[in-house]
Amino acid sequence: MRYEPVIGLEIHLQLKTKTKMFCGCPTHYTAVAPNTNICPICMGHPGVLPVVNELAIHYGIRMGLALNCTIADRSKFDRKNYFYPDLPKAYQISQFDLPIAIDGHMDVVVPGGEREIARIGITRAHLEEDAAKNVHGEDGSTYVDFNRGGTPLIEIVTEPDFRTPAETKIFLQELRLIARYLDISSADMEKGHMRCDANISLRRFDDNDKPVDIGLNPKTEVKNLNSFRHVERALEHEIRRQTKLWEAETPPLESTTRGWDDTKGVTTNQRSKEDAADYRYFPEPDIAPLALAEIANEEKGKLPELPVAKRTRFESEYALRPSDARQMCDDPALADFAENVFSELHVWLESIDDIQDVDVEKKKLAKIVSSWLLSRLGGLLIERSIDVRIMKISPENFAEFITLIATRKLNNAGGLQVLSLMLEGGDNDPHHIMEEKQLGRMEDEGLIADMVLRVIESHPAEVTRYKAGEEQLLKFLIGMVMKASEGTADAAMAKNMLLVELKAE
Ligand SMILES: [Zn+2]
Repeated sequence: MRYEPVIGLEIHLQLKTKTKMFCGCPTHYTAVAPNTNICPICMGHPGVLPVVNELAIHYGIRMGLALNCTIADRSKFDRKNYFYPDLPKAYQISQFDLPIAIDGHMDVVVPGGEREIARIGITRAHLEEDAAKNVHGEDGSTYVDFNRGGTPLIEIVTEPDFRTPAETKIFLQELRLIARYLDISSADMEKGHMRCDANISLRRFDDNDKPVDIGLNPKTEVKNLNSFRHVERALEHEIRRQTKLWEAETPPLESTTRGWDDTKGVTTNQRSKEDAADYRYFPEPDIAPLALAEIANEEKGKLPELPVAKRTRFESEYALRPSDARQMCDDPALADFAENVFSELHVWLESIDDIQDVDVEKKKLAKIVSSWLLSRLGGLLIERSIDVRIMKISPENFAEFITLIATRKLNNAGGLQVLSLMLEGGDNDPHHIMEEKQLGRMEDEGLIADMVLRVIESHPAEVTRYKAGEEQLLKFLIGMVMKASEGTADAAMAKNMLLVELKAE
């Protein structure tokens, strides 16, 4: 018997509107005192009327379109009734049978996975308001902070199309990136701006690899997973737990809800799942049904290029390796920066007369840009905690810097110093910095020859050993010349001169 995991996800994304879903209260809730961003509407006082936040509708539709969904012409809000301290109205305004978006999909690319591309169906996406937050005091008492109550959420429900925990992780990472490209949510899981529930059951296959189960077996819903790692680990644990139950012939008989304990690395039982009918959904009488066709058309017209399309275009247009294109596109601001750098560089490339093959040169430039932008500049930014959005280097300056490297006017060591100085601001012109600080590549044969002779003189032991056959000492001697020139000497020139001098001695 083989057991195949059948996994579906429900994701809540907090939309980054300035005001709440149905009232004018600000949506930020952590930097202010508890229960200050509230009003009679989000506190659920009797007789108040909710007013729909139109921007949230736009954001929701934008996400629906990005997930290849059909946007409903007509949609409405419903009351989802349940009683809980964080819900002052005793119902949540959500959407039941007419969500804003249905029937979409996202293709998940799993490098080295069992199936390289997994198409994940999107069942639906709907809008709703968030609940408030229970705060547990040290004395055992519980307080409620209503600041978060009523902030807009989009809930995205997938089909049970995932077959491995790794697929869910890649899907969630891509969803986060899409939300950021669409500029509708920061989608930061650590801050609770993106939350995930995962459903999982196992499907049996017999020894001829034919499915034994026709329908789906009772599932476990693991609630409130708040990091990619937690999602992956919780699902891996559930696969092990449910496999054991099946093997012991005590399979799950009903669907249950479990929580994830990351410290212990286990899921724990919370409750048996209520049916959807328990919520006694009914249409929200205070909000008119929504006609969405016009907004959908408007949003369709201004949908930005999505990560998957951008990666493909970066590969073909800028001759980037897939992994480099992916890394550049993982942050929309970095992708914009890279795009501007490349367009400057290609203009420069086309202005050079004696180029043999432009495509070859583009490939070479792509490698140089990747290595300097992703590894070296990326490293400097992390080291100094600077975000690419506020960095003091413009794409024009960086492109010029790349031309200095590409034409070998700057070597790696000098380049790194120029880049550091550019990052500090003040003078951002790489040419100026290179000349002023004399960081350009030293090509003066006389100067390098002097250094070579001095290095040979001051390291007689190494020279003797080199001559006795320890050829690896040549590297050491080249290193000494580079050190003497503070990294600016042309290393190839230094090597040739050393070889000539060592032979002559
Ligand atoms: Zn309010």
